[in-house]
Amino acid sequence: MGKKRIVLTFPHDLLDKPITYSLIKEYDLIVNILKANITPNELGVLVLEIEGQKQNLENGLAYLKKVGIEIEPLIQDIKWDEQKCTHCTKCVTVCPTGVFVVNRDTMQIEFNKNKCIACGLCVTLCPYRAVEIVI
Ligand code: SF4
Ligand code: SF4
Repeated sequence: MGKKRIVLTFPHDLLDKPITYSLIKEYDLIVNILKANITPNELGVLVLEIEGQKQNLENGLAYLKKVGIEIEPLIQDIKWDEQKCTHCTKCVTVCPTGVFVVNRDTMQIEFNKNKCIACGLCVTLCPYRAVEIVI
């Protein structure tokens, strides 16, 4: 048996696909949905913990890739460096849980770490490397 925590990102036209149903029924996996969200630019983000026989896990992940879903491992923690941040707001649109918000009085980014599910989407998106993975 093996267990993986993964972040799935998929386009709007795959939102109605029975992805978790297929993982359970066709690949005999135990699926725990940790978080599900749709970003403002209409990407679906699903954070899953999946468990099963090694071969079933591999086959299930191959199925997800085949239908066009991007898979990233769930990272542990992230750190925001206010000094590097230019408040460009790119991360506001990508974060599925609303960790980054614009303070309308100061027009500065605020970071609410408690809401973070460590999906890593902002880490790859930030042009100024103001968000990084903490190992
Ligand atoms: S994308 Fe990076 S630089 Fe832009 S607001 Fe977010 S953390 Fe700051
Ligand atoms: S890793 Fe970044 S995008 Fe993901 S939930 Fe945390 S702050 Fe939001």
